[in-house]
Amino acid sequence: MPVVDVAVPVPLKQSFSYLHDTPVATGVRVKVPFGNRTLIGVVIGNIEAQTEDTGLKLKSVTEVLDEVPLFDTTLITLANWLAKYYHHPIGEVWSTLMPVRLRKGMPLTDKLDAFTLTEAGQDALVQSLVRGKKQQLCLASLADEPVEEGEIKQRFSPAVIKALSEKALIQTVQIKQEIQTDWASYTLQETPPVASTEQAVAIAGVNQNGTEFRTFLLEGVTGSGKTEVYLQVIAPVLKANRQVLILVPEIGLTPQTVGRFERRFGIKVGVLHSQMSDLARLQVWQQSRRGELGIVIGTRSAIFTPMARPGMIIVDEEHDESFKQQDGLRYHARDLAVKRAQTENVPLLLGSATPSLESLNNALAKRYTHLQLSERAGGASHTQLKVLDSRDQPLQAGIAPGLLSVMRSHLQQGNQVLVFLNRRGYAPAVLCHHCGQTVDCKSCERPFTYHKSQGRLQCHHCGASKRMPNQCSACHSTSLQTSGLGTEQLEQGLGELFPDIKQVRIDSDAVRGKDALVTRLDEINARKYQLLIGTQILSKGHHFPHVTLVVVLDCDGALFSADFRAPEKFAQLITQLAGRAGRATKPGEMYIQTDNPGHPLLQDLIHNGFAHFARHALHERQMANLPPYSAQAVIRAEASAAQQVHTFLQQVKQAFGDHSHQFGGYIAGPLPCLIEKRQGRFRFMLLLQCSQRAALHNWIVSTLRQVQSLPLATRVRWSLDIDPVDFS
Ligand code: ADP
Ligand code: ZN
Ligand code: ZN
Repeated sequence: MPVVDVAVPVPLKQSFSYLHDTPVATGVRVKVPFGNRTLIGVVIGNIEAQTEDTGLKLKSVTEVLDEVPLFDTTLITLANWLAKYYHHPIGEVWSTLMPVRLRKGMPLTDKLDAFTLTEAGQDALVQSLVRGKKQQLCLASLADEPVEEGEIKQRFSPAVIKALSEKALIQTVQIKQEIQTDWASYTLQETPPVASTEQAVAIAGVNQNGTEFRTFLLEGVTGSGKTEVYLQVIAPVLKANRQVLILVPEIGLTPQTVGRFERRFGIKVGVLHSQMSDLARLQVWQQSRRGELGIVIGTRSAIFTPMARPGMIIVDEEHDESFKQQDGLRYHARDLAVKRAQTENVPLLLGSATPSLESLNNALAKRYTHLQLSERAGGASHTQLKVLDSRDQPLQAGIAPGLLSVMRSHLQQGNQVLVFLNRRGYAPAVLCHHCGQTVDCKSCERPFTYHKSQGRLQCHHCGASKRMPNQCSACHSTSLQTSGLGTEQLEQGLGELFPDIKQVRIDSDAVRGKDALVTRLDEINARKYQLLIGTQILSKGHHFPHVTLVVVLDCDGALFSADFRAPEKFAQLITQLAGRAGRATKPGEMYIQTDNPGHPLLQDLIHNGFAHFARHALHERQMANLPPYSAQAVIRAEASAAQQVHTFLQQVKQAFGDHSHQFGGYIAGPLPCLIEKRQGRFRFMLLLQCSQRAALHNWIVSTLRQVQSLPLATRVRWSLDIDPVDFS
């Protein structure tokens, strides 16, 4: 009887054998008995018919779910690679890379549940018969065509939908999505700009490579026309009837981005992101798998999208941290993109104004082809960076007087000013004026952030929230005061200083959901606001043609972090922020207000720019034998008893220590994580490092079993993070 090898979603590092009457193709989902449960797994191989007695011990497949394999050999190779590289259970790897509905055993479907207007609904919309504003909006959003159920449910409350359904103004229908499969015959819908010399060199560099695997790093300053390069290099790929997969950071995926690709080629672009319904995601996944989409743009997990005729992979803003998954299977989508492109044998293009030191190192070492754009497109000039010394200055709304007058002059000329402060809420701490005690979140032992508009305190580590107390819990004094500056307070302060200027605050409190963000961004570019206040949401990729001044407040913490990547992240942030200014015809400038004006990192960035900083930082990493010149892994552990975590990690350290000499391994710790306590759990980590990646890998392989069999391994929560990008 044939035996099939099945990846079952359990936290065990192996696949399992099952019997079935006939062989089952790899890439097919099956239901199998596991203990006293029935689980859904994926067939990852067939085993040669076994001897009678082995066969007897095996259980049988309960049900074969698919007629044809859902996953091709590339994805099976990729899954095996993920399991091996990240030392992760193969069944859980498959759970991560399958769309949720497939994971649950649901069938492929090309129908979508959608809402549509009834005739009464049409009338109600035309004659504005509905009172509620939300209900009106909901009707209006269905005016042109049915909209997928999940999308409506995301944008409108159940109450709104219920009210409209009960009045029979809307109803559900099933729609089949129209798709265009012959994108190869597209005609350009707009005339592309004439490429600059640098752009032309980059485009030719990629196109001359042909259709085979090669990794390119496109290092182009902000606004240098990287997206234009993407558009021009994919044109021949689409013409050859091949598909392009584009990964973008979570926050950079706006309708504007998608729109640029749709406008150029006039073809439908498949979009994948975390806020879509499971069904809508499955649709795009399926269309791409069947080869019905020429372009798929998505965030991190889109790297798992199957493609019938892959032609190219692009990772935009490749340095962005959102490409690294921070729980479960802690993969890095950029690194996986390299593996995937290699397996598919297609070119991979990584683009960024501020490349990760890992990718830059690969480019400098000629493992990647290095393409550079040093000038801004369309004649826009570079933003000038300046440092503003805030020591001993009488700050107003957290800003020095000299800087306020610079802001005033930009505003008076009718330009927009962006003020960046990476701290939401009113104030990052509340303390007692009498005894000095801060009001802390008990389970994280960190100060609560005060959110004035809600009259509440919120812990930014665990999300706990409570009413603002009236008195100090230690001395009962009622003189509680806030300390430090958050965006809410900044908005209030700037409102008083510039009463005639319209301002908008962009942070996750003020702007909830993707739609709201897109609306605000559109309003900004329509010049509805002059003063933009925001957190890092504002730093990413957006195009603000009317911003001429960027002000950075309170960045000093980043200059003195314990994380060796902090300077890299800081330089990327500052450079990306500077890139928001002066993108059009108006030149831009940026002021960094700091108490450490002489800090070497700041000085280097200001005088020499990111490209210089990055090369210098690489040199420092090499001297210190830090990544990318060595390979790291982190073992994190947490439990409510600090001692238990500590003991566990000591034992883990012992286990690794027993083998370290074989692999030239170095162990540091147990060290507290940068967030030492969260939700009542103490958090520590061990850092493992080897000069060679293969040695680190072998060291882990030869030690992990020993770690897993430690009695404490089942009592503390612990995880292994390969190539960690932060130590929080
Ligand atoms: P990046 O992706 O590097 O930030 P974009 O591709 O968004 O840059 O380009 C910035 C702006 O310059 C866009 O408005 C784009 O249309 C324009 N642009 C790009 N390339 C050219 C070119 N060769 N000539 C004129 N304008 C260009
Ligand atoms: Zn007190
Ligand atoms: Zn907390």
